[in-house]
Order: sequence, then structure tokens, then C-alpha cells
Amino acid sequence: MSLLGAIEAGGTKFVCAVGTGPDDLRSVTRIPTTTPEETLPQALNFFRQQIKSEGALDAIGIGAFGPVDVRADSPTFGWFLNTPKPGWQQIDFAGLLRRELTVPIGFDTDVNAAALGEHQWGNAQGLETFIYLTVGTGIGGGGLVGGRPIRGLLHPEMGHILIPHNLSVDPFVGSCPFHQDCLEGLASGFAMEKRWGQRADSLPADHPAWALEADYLATGLVNFILMLSPERIIMGGGVMAQKQLFSLMRSQVREKLNNYLDVPKIISEIEDYIVPPKLGDKAGILGALALAQQALEAEA
Ligand code: ZN
Repeated sequence: MSLLGAIEAGGTKFVCAVGTGPDDLRSVTRIPTTTPEETLPQALNFFRQQIKSEGALDAIGIGAFGPVDVRADSPTFGWFLNTPKPGWQQIDFAGLLRRELTVPIGFDTDVNAAALGEHQWGNAQGLETFIYLTVGTGIGGGGLVGGRPIRGLLHPEMGHILIPHNLSVDPFVGSCPFHQDCLEGLASGFAMEKRWGQRADSLPADHPAWALEADYLATGLVNFILMLSPERIIMGGGVMAQKQLFSLMRSQVREKLNNYLDVPKIISEIEDYIVPPKLGDKAGILGALALAQQALEAEA
């Protein structure tokens, strides 16, 4: 059994762990994401201590907030790029760990990692084409198309698609520093807090915020469904902890598609089509472990 390291590098916290698989995840540790000068040495120290107590690591997998460079042949592979998070632009994240710990590094976006975790052990097992969307402080999407992660110019940024915004219904201008009222700017947890003046998780289940939220998310989903034809959509993140959102969204998706896609998954089995992650809030860190496994296999 290979001992692997995993990092779920989120915008608010880094979750670090070591383990051999989903049933053996050890020493799960949370480090606040402050500055690279503060956070990265703490992550390094965590792994140095683990190596001392548990033995050598065979590889480390990282799922990171973006945008990041995921192109394996790029000179800046594993770097944070033009991220809106202050201080984190142009930081060689994967290279630092590789140099300091001399292990193979698997690297992808946080949402692609979570998607991979769900593919390996969760609700996307056996699926070739699916998406994983996280709705938290920000909105991100990843997944597989034809069994492969979506790569190209960079990686998908599904949270920043532009959607209709009716200012007479919702006068909130949006919160994205780049596009203002993109999907993330209208429907992230951050946007909800700005619009309603209180944290999303403090809004009661019957608050009108949720119908509006479901409408925006369903608009995003309809676009992804029409563009990528996913066999299933998995939705995680803090905002999705509001379970009433799932039924609101499912009926909105059906309504917006208006019987155009005449398939059972939309017409009669939508409860099984738009689902929460089976791995819950462990999808990201387990996905990072799966990335480590891939890096080890690529090395061998
Ligand atoms: Zn945006």
C-alpha cells in the first residue's frame, strides 16, 4: 500500500492529510489560507512531520483554487495564475512541494479533484461524462468528458459564465471583481451575503433568497447540460448544504429545458440526476489523494 499525501487548497483553508485510500485518511489538518509566506511553510511542515511519524510519502496530490496552470507541459505547471486572491498570483505551488519533499506531485483544480474523488469512490463511479459544481464562497465546476478531465486553453471556469440578470427583479449589481454579475457574482455564498446583508447559512429555508438562488443556479446548469451533455451533475459546497435548494433547482431546470431534452434523466429521474456528493465534504481531499495516486502511476 502506498502512503500518499493530499492537499485541498481552498481560498479560506488548506486541508492536508495523508493516507492510503478513502477508508484510511489520517491526520486531517486545517491551515487557514492567509498569505503564501505563512500558509505554504505550514503545509510543508505538516508533511515533514507526517514523514517522520508515518514514513516516506510516495506522492502528493493537490487540488487548488484557481485559476491555476494545469497544463503538464507548461513551464508554469502547478502555479497559481491571475487569482483574485490577494498575494497568491504567480506562485509556484507544486514546484515548491516537489523540491522540498522530493516526491511526485499530482495537481489539478479543487473542483476537478473533487470530481475525481466522486468518480473514484462516490456518485460518479462508472460515468464517462459528468460535472461537479461547488457553490460556496465562490462557484467552480469541473468533471470529466469522455473519461478525461476537461483541458484546453487552461481549465473550465464554469462559475464565471454570463447569465441573464433582470435588474428589476434583482437590483443587486453582482460581486465578481472581474465580471460583476456573472454566475459567481450573482449566486455564490459571497454574493448572497452581499445581497441580503447576512450570511447565506443564516437565511431561513423559506426566505425568497433561495428561489432566486435556485433560478440562477438552474440557469447555469441548463447551460452546462446543453453544452456538455453530462450523465450526472454533482453539487457540493457550503451553499448547497441548504437541502431545499436541490428540489427548487431540479424543478427550475426542468421548467427551463421545457421538455426539449426528452430523456428519462430529466423528465422523470431528475432526483437521481442532480445530486449532492456521496463523499460529502471529503470529496475534495479524497480527490487530492486520487491525484497523488495518478501521479505515482504516471511516474512508474
Ligand atoms: Zn466572474
